[in-house]
Amino acid sequence: MISSIQEAVLAANLRLAASGLVHLTWGNVSGLDRDRGVFYIKPSGIDYAKLQVTDLVGIRVTDGAVVDGHLRPSSDTPTHLALYRAWGNLGVGGICHTHSVRATAFAQAGRELPCFGTTHADHFFGPVPVCRDLTAAEVAEDYEGLTGAAIVSHFHQHHLNPVAMPAVLQAYHAPFTWGPHADKAVENAIALETCADMALQTLALNPTRPPLPPHLLEKHHLRKHGPDAYYGQTKESTGS
Ligand SMILES: [Zn+2]
Repeated sequence: MISSIQEAVLAANLRLAASGLVHLTWGNVSGLDRDRGVFYIKPSGIDYAKLQVTDLVGIRVTDGAVVDGHLRPSSDTPTHLALYRAWGNLGVGGICHTHSVRATAFAQAGRELPCFGTTHADHFFGPVPVCRDLTAAEVAEDYEGLTGAAIVSHFHQHHLNPVAMPAVLQAYHAPFTWGPHADKAVENAIALETCADMALQTLALNPTRPPLPPHLLEKHHLRKHGPDAYYGQTKESTGS
């Protein structure tokens, strides 16, 4: 039987394809079924236009075993697995990987994405970090799995909260984004690409522009996220 999580992961992959952020078959989205401890991910090398819900591959979080589907999962599956293992209990329930051009340019340059304005602050609480590239030994041992481990280690070492910073730029590679579910992970990939585009244009106009001051960063992030958030609609407020 097809679950609502599988339907949501298919929809998120199709949304990513429609967003214009991916070319060819690059990129993938996964979503976690918390009740079953299984995440569903796009199969490797399948054209988005032909993607069916039954093509999605189910991976058990505890041991990485394929428990559902008949195709080979995305080659980035071990990276997703490492992030769910580390952060699933913090609320990460969806992960998206793209090679979207502008965010990838920052990743290739080994340069964090500075927070130059409130659009960025609304989504990412500070500069989007760059995670180191892997050593030759790490690449030979378990490239995708150790990429996930390097991302988790980077966040730990730098005291970054993956809920407040739902993105990373993998050096020489590309971004990963995440969120509470697959659709939010895609939304964060779209936000990241938009912010990278804005940052490139900001740097072109003013190469020495400093980042957004902390009081504006905090105001914009915390009014949308956190215990005192008031952006958008709540049950109590439906008006302007
Ligand atoms: Zn990639």
